[in-house]
Amino acid sequence: MKLINKSNKLENVCYEIRGPILTEAKKMEDEGHRILKLNIGNPAPFGFEAPDDILKDVIHNLPNSQGYSDSNGIYSARVAVMQYYQQLQIKNVSIDDVFIGNGVSELIVMAMQGLLNNDDEVLIPAPDYPLWTAAVSLASGKPVHYLCDDSNNWQPDIKDIRSKISDKTKAIVLINPNNPTGAVYSRELLQEIIEIAREFGIAIISDEIYDKILYDHAKHYSIAAMANDVFFITLSGLSKNYRVAGFRAGWLVVSGNKRIANGYIEGLNMLSSMRMCANVPSQHAIQTALGGYQSINELISHDGRLKIQRDLAFEMLNAIDGLECVIPQGAMYCFVKVDAEKFNITNDEKMILDLLRAEKVLLVHGSAFNLHQGCYFRLVFLPSVDVLKPALEGIANFFAHYKQV
Ligand code: PLP
Repeated sequence: MKLINKSNKLENVCYEIRGPILTEAKKMEDEGHRILKLNIGNPAPFGFEAPDDILKDVIHNLPNSQGYSDSNGIYSARVAVMQYYQQLQIKNVSIDDVFIGNGVSELIVMAMQGLLNNDDEVLIPAPDYPLWTAAVSLASGKPVHYLCDDSNNWQPDIKDIRSKISDKTKAIVLINPNNPTGAVYSRELLQEIIEIAREFGIAIISDEIYDKILYDHAKHYSIAAMANDVFFITLSGLSKNYRVAGFRAGWLVVSGNKRIANGYIEGLNMLSSMRMCANVPSQHAIQTALGGYQSINELISHDGRLKIQRDLAFEMLNAIDGLECVIPQGAMYCFVKVDAEKFNITNDEKMILDLLRAEKVLLVHGSAFNLHQGCYFRLVFLPSVDVLKPALEGIANFFAHYKQV
């Protein structure tokens, strides 16, 4: 019998955030267990509602959204994105440099499909948001991971980056603020990355989807504003800052030395038109979101809900013997180091499965983020305190007794 298999293209593609452990969690739910899910960065189900203006705008424009739009997006959305980056001092951005997509996810895949030939290399942080690694592999490129250092607030290790550049390196990916570590990169560090990109003629791709989710006076710098002679791709969207992940609205902007990238930009335009356009009703939310009242600031302020939850998660995790976590300066995750020796851990995925079965708490293991040294897990601190606290107590209880067998 001739079997129908997945394609060879998927052979090296790995995306574990929604992987086998989630299947087990679903099975447990079917059996009647209540699972505390601290595994996915999806704000709305945790009561983080979108600003009203955004919803109204989409509803108001629904009747006008029945047809395809321009492939790269509706005019008002692209202008709003262009102006947003102009205000951030990114020079040389015109409306033609803005591509609206069905979330940043679609644009990550598109950006890599358009850029890579077989075995071209892309430098990706470890740990990473794993779609980056998957998208490079899917585009037949080779993901090359550079280390981010938890002893240095999870900042990228510049020496490691330099040592991993080859003549096949096409681009370096930054995730800033970072998922999963919560790191926010300093100006000095970004400047060093620009110098590397300049020296080796590689593009800088900056995933800034959490650029407004910052704590304790952390400041976010858009790297594309810091040079004109390097080619930049900047991505962001509405899923996190505006809590409408289900709308699937994101954007990609090319800037800097675009002259060297005419061919690539032509490719992006082709890929963009091949999928007709992004979801049109959601595109109407973009102008209102970027131009309107930024209610995210209330959530991250000193007594904001997200900030309080971050503090609680950080404090309770660090109080657990054998766990250690760097304070997240941005985003919505704690990335926690586990003393593997103390708990006899050789398999971090098994640790998360054991925790799920014992305490009904769902996390994601560190190796799912393409970090293959040390033992870590990621916790999403979106649930409200009345859910987060028992979940953290469950984690404490688990590690008070755990020995992996
Ligand atoms: N980039 C990062 C760093 C993310 O954490 C996520 C989602 O969690 C995405 C991109 C994808 O976001 P979107 O909902 O816009 O597809």
